[in-house]
Amino acid sequence: MRIAEIFRSIQGEGRWTGTESVFVRASGCNLRCRWCDTPYASWTPEGGDFSIAEIQEKIEILRVPFPSSPRSPIPNHLSPSLDLVMTGGEPMMFGELVPLTAELRAAGWRITIETSGTLYLPVACDLMSISPKLSNSTPSAACEPHWVERHEARRHAPETIRRLVSEYDYQMKFVIGRPRDCQEVEQYLAEFPGIDRGRVFLMPEGVDLHSLESKTAWLEPYCARHGVRFCPRRHVEWFGVERGR
Ligand code: SF4
Repeated sequence: MRIAEIFRSIQGEGRWTGTESVFVRASGCNLRCRWCDTPYASWTPEGGDFSIAEIQEKIEILRVPFPSSPRSPIPNHLSPSLDLVMTGGEPMMFGELVPLTAELRAAGWRITIETSGTLYLPVACDLMSISPKLSNSTPSAACEPHWVERHEARRHAPETIRRLVSEYDYQMKFVIGRPRDCQEVEQYLAEFPGIDRGRVFLMPEGVDLHSLESKTAWLEPYCARHGVRFCPRRHVEWFGVERGR
């Protein structure tokens, strides 16, 4: 399985925000989002191939929690736990994820899988964190003409979404760059009437505080009015876009 990085940090988005976790970032993606914040795991995938045993070994080394620090951004009421986040890139591209997650679960890890919801694997997973890609993700035709068609053909996979939400505890996170993206989310949710709006998070697009704050100003009130959840990107506030944090 190709891995870009394995590191210990704090979950910055969604239901388990603030939870100290080990992150395993698969390298490689079947999509090419215009605003991808991990291009080293999609556009120009880096890293090397590791066996399941090698990945487990690296993860276990990181079981040891952070030393306590008065500067830690972990909220006081949250304690370290054995949380593991499989992220990417697109981790569901790799068949090794099936035995790997089964073994990690047996070893006591609580597993989140972060996926675009375009591919299915029968993984062991405690939270399927699905981030469907809206039209704002389509790469620029001027720069990447060959990826526009592939991205558009792949980014919406309704049968896979139905299967994931029926088989796993889930959350759905949408990246919002402009107000009309919210209308697209509503059209999307209308296609899946079984999806619980309480599990739907809208998060501002951006990798700098100014950009996030300007979108938060209108997106947070929108979420409150429409019965979905606003999702701050706390890891950007805490760490910026530094790799391995
Ligand atoms: S699906 Fe995720 S990793 Fe892949 S290109 Fe889009 S944002 Fe990047």
